[in-house]
Amino acid sequence: MPEGSYLYCDVSLPVPVDQLFTYSLPLTLRHRVQTGSRLVVPFGSRTLTGVILRCHDDRPGIATRDALRLIDSSPVLDAELLALGRWIAGYYCAPLGEVLRGMLPLAAEIRKGKVWSLTDAGRDAARQLLLDSAADDPVIQVLRMLEKRPLSAAYLAKALPLADKAIKSLERKGFIVVEQVQTERDPLRAPSERLRVELAEAPPADLRLNKPERELRAFLELHPGSHNLKELEDTVRNASIAARSLARKGVVTLKPETVAIAAGPVRARHALNPAQQNAYDQISAAIAAKRFQTFLLHGVTGSGKTEVYLNCIESALAADRSALLLVPEIALTPAMAGQFFTRFGDRVAILHSAFTDVERSDQWRRIRSGVASVVVGTRSGVFAPVRNLGLIVVDEEHDGSYKQEENPRYNGRDVAIVRAQAANACVVLGSATPSLESRYNAEREKYSLLELPARIEERPMPTVELIDMRQEFLETRQQATFSRKLIEAIGARLENGEQTIVLLNRRGFSSFVACRACGERVSCMNCSLTLTHHKRDRRLLCHYCGYAEKIPSACPKCQSEHIYFLGLGSEKVEEELHRAFPTARIARLDRDTVTGKRQYETILNEFREGSFDILVGTQMIAKGHDIPNVTLVGVVSADIGLGMPDFRAAERTFQLLTQVAGRAGRGNVPGIVIIQTINPDHYAIRMAAAQDYAAFYQKELHFRRMMLYPPFSAMANVLVRAEKKEAAMRMSSELGLLLNPPPEKLKIMGPAEAPVPRLKNEYRYQFLVKAASRKALNELLQRVRAFTLEHKWGATALVIDVDPLTLM
Ligand code: ADP
Ligand code: ZN
Ligand code: ZN
Repeated sequence: MPEGSYLYCDVSLPVPVDQLFTYSLPLTLRHRVQTGSRLVVPFGSRTLTGVILRCHDDRPGIATRDALRLIDSSPVLDAELLALGRWIAGYYCAPLGEVLRGMLPLAAEIRKGKVWSLTDAGRDAARQLLLDSAADDPVIQVLRMLEKRPLSAAYLAKALPLADKAIKSLERKGFIVVEQVQTERDPLRAPSERLRVELAEAPPADLRLNKPERELRAFLELHPGSHNLKELEDTVRNASIAARSLARKGVVTLKPETVAIAAGPVRARHALNPAQQNAYDQISAAIAAKRFQTFLLHGVTGSGKTEVYLNCIESALAADRSALLLVPEIALTPAMAGQFFTRFGDRVAILHSAFTDVERSDQWRRIRSGVASVVVGTRSGVFAPVRNLGLIVVDEEHDGSYKQEENPRYNGRDVAIVRAQAANACVVLGSATPSLESRYNAEREKYSLLELPARIEERPMPTVELIDMRQEFLETRQQATFSRKLIEAIGARLENGEQTIVLLNRRGFSSFVACRACGERVSCMNCSLTLTHHKRDRRLLCHYCGYAEKIPSACPKCQSEHIYFLGLGSEKVEEELHRAFPTARIARLDRDTVTGKRQYETILNEFREGSFDILVGTQMIAKGHDIPNVTLVGVVSADIGLGMPDFRAAERTFQLLTQVAGRAGRGNVPGIVIIQTINPDHYAIRMAAAQDYAAFYQKELHFRRMMLYPPFSAMANVLVRAEKKEAAMRMSSELGLLLNPPPEKLKIMGPAEAPVPRLKNEYRYQFLVKAASRKALNELLQRVRAFTLEHKWGATALVIDVDPLTLM
């Protein structure tokens, strides 16, 4: 409950500056405001929604405007989450208001609409005009109505159907403004299929009810528990209307429907093996001791990490604390969520980006109310408003999808650790291929290392074979997509009724159009990137900005007609497989075949159920799916990622190959992996083939130490972008002057053209900052931000990426 009454409050707004804004509170709001609630306020000519950070009576030195509306009657961000937001804003150099906005998945219950209100000029004019004009003039009517309070466009249109012209002319004169605002939606106005109805605990007696109301109450008395309102309508006439009126009378309660998740394969509960047991014992001891501790659970593919997570979550729940499990974007499938439902029932909430806004905010409310104490979510799930946090598990902690590639550019894994620390909770980072940083932290005993060195039930690790495609070419004299060995192996699986996964390392490896005469590659109008050929819709497409064009009939540079298709997309691989195995059933999984998460799920399920023999795909198929009948994994082109201008290229290639190899032989039949490469001697490929993480780690760590890359420095990428090349160059040289000579403990490279010099119609220059001290890095970045604010750079001109994962 709000305490006290205040005259003012300080609000954090989603604007790119580092300050709070003070608003005065109208009488109606003074008793209701609370820190952590959202407030609608005027800002310049706009209306914005911000988060209240302080309520007070300190009269500010400057005139304040009145706040407009309070959205939440109780705070949506508690002190713990507000503190986390402040940390993110500081560490990632992001505006606090934008951070806080990103922490709230509640867009759904906010209804967007247009609202008209008077400007100051309009108010003056109204005073004049209202004195000496005819009352039936629509202009006067509009002014009179708006003088009392702002009105929604819908309301105004209904009240004054003929005032359309008047409104337009008042707007032109600058007397009134229209604003996009957000108002809270009554959850009980949700459609019936999204609501559950239940008898209230202590319904008032002696109420006069109408017939449908009596019928519904009688039904609920005979059938205790909650019922989906839509389904009830089949049994009880007018149930929907009756339920809503009964809810108002306090006879029943209406609650949002929990999201229906198709249960995946039910997992039996397993007795833990000794390695699992040891991991579990240590983690649960830390949870019991309410000690902040970060564990790195390094377990090879198929070693039973999930079973450890489930047990640890159980011990957090047993201690009356809640648990958060973060999983990579693509891995959060119903099948995966199903495991948690089987184990924890309706205490589970799922935060999934494929859900509608309404679904998501329902889940969010269940968590906040304490009904759900196990949360499974993707990156932003780290902000779930759980109570009494005891454990955060970050599965596949090395995964790139934990990093948000837009403002605020936080890494969910790292935020998880900071959040846990504040809550005296434990963190478990799980992976078969931990990031160099995490493994290094374990080595330095910042994290506690727990290892699961073998697969469950002594199932063998898959056998990996490298095929040197240069040799293959010499022997066959053919530029083939598949080696003879891979073809033979796929053929054998088909004969045995076993399944195959074929992976293409897609990054920069799709089919494109080039000119034989001049060598030109057809590239995007807005980005300096080669366009990808999409055979099915006969178009060239930019994967970054969505630009599309028809396949040209002549070279855009030299007009030669000798243009041809190069490279190899998954579409082409699928086609070639069809040619080699005409009767095989082949499915393809990549960004083109999959538009929504649910579609992705369908294809995977069908593959799991055996409707396909071969699954062709990109990175998407490498993530932790457990499909026992897959006994062969073929990697068509292991090398492609290695050529990227990025110090993490080797690590990423190693992780991808190890992970995809781990898909093979998870059932009773041992698996084999065939990796085709033209760099069989590259350490990332060799060591992935040997499944030798330790060797890779040592080698890569040495390289990072030599080059002062993370974990041996704190790094940030500072990018400057503008539509005009001159502007981008000028800004980057201005920054260059500011940054040079670099302060002590810092190394700054740049300004240089970014690896992708032009993207989405903007020219890009960048500075790479390596720092021996985090503090020095942060100070420098704050100076950069201050500089750009001072010089009034556009809001999007500067991008600061702390701990960047990619340098594109
Ligand atoms: P990881 O996530 O480490 O790749 P999973 O957690 O998916 O491995 O486990 C692989 C398989 O082993 C799953 O089918 C799981 O049900 C099974 N499993 C896990 N722990 C045990 C155990 N202690 N005994 C038997 N089977 C287990
Ligand atoms: Zn040409
Ligand atoms: Zn583009």
